[in-house]
Amino acid sequence: MKKKLLFMLFISSIIIFSMSCYLYAKQAQIEGENLNVRNGPGTEYEVIAQVNPPDTYRIIEEVDEWIKIELATENGWIHKDYAQIVEKEMQESEENEKSTTTTQASPTTSEIKDFHSSVSDLNGKIIVIDPGHGGIDVGAIGASGGYESNYTLKTSFVLKEMLEAHGAKVYLTRNKNYYVSLTSRTTYSGSKFPDVFLSLHYNSTPELPDVKGVGTYYYSDTDQSLAKYVHKGILSQTGMNDRGVVQEDLQVLRMNHRPSLLLELGFLSNREEESHLRSNVFLESMSRGIIMGLYDYFNK
Ligand SMILES: [Zn+2]
Repeated sequence: MKKKLLFMLFISSIIIFSMSCYLYAKQAQIEGENLNVRNGPGTEYEVIAQVNPPDTYRIIEEVDEWIKIELATENGWIHKDYAQIVEKEMQESEENEKSTTTTQASPTTSEIKDFHSSVSDLNGKIIVIDPGHGGIDVGAIGASGGYESNYTLKTSFVLKEMLEAHGAKVYLTRNKNYYVSLTSRTTYSGSKFPDVFLSLHYNSTPELPDVKGVGTYYYSDTDQSLAKYVHKGILSQTGMNDRGVVQEDLQVLRMNHRPSLLLELGFLSNREEESHLRSNVFLESMSRGIIMGLYDYFNK
């Protein structure tokens, strides 16, 4: 009797699992610049975020001309006219994303699990993430036309969520697509007394489209070891080209009185590297690398 019950539970969980795959089979590829995301299906609802091409979001629900999409922090509604609906089998797209990251030496599931279980040790650590650029300052423009300011924000959301899962308290210097001066970023950060400040950026050299890789920048001599740990973590999890750990006088680091780094997490002018950034799986690998580096730094 008990066996039969377990079997029934097993079957029903399979059914529920495949149903959820079916429900999440569609994705919205954003086509409108600074497209408003609202908290309901209509223009009368409040704008809660903005999205930009070439980002793609999972569709949760469709009501008339409106689609509900899954953002990193919350869900919201966009108008169908400004997005292309891509029909994708959820499992298939996950396969695809996985295969791109496998070539990037991504860890096996068991390694991820081991890491997750061993690192709740960022408990109580305060991290300020600074998504580079924003608003009128779009930063570098990618090979496919995507803006650095959007990629840094998207990466910051993924990193924030993963850091929080490891027990850290995380603040962002901006959480939407608006302009923030460098001074405001460092002043805000200073008020949080973070254990580490991370400014996220992407690079671009359109005249040299083959150039790719990750570079880690620090200013104060005392931040060199932090830079080395985080840089090593990113390389180990993504397999990206190593562009080195560099000491440089950058305002966002110089004005910072806490351990701080500026990460150039890849080249948008390189098509391959830019395309990775559209995959949450890839951004999660990158974030995992950063977190592993922080963990090593705090436990050195
Ligand atoms: Zn930048």
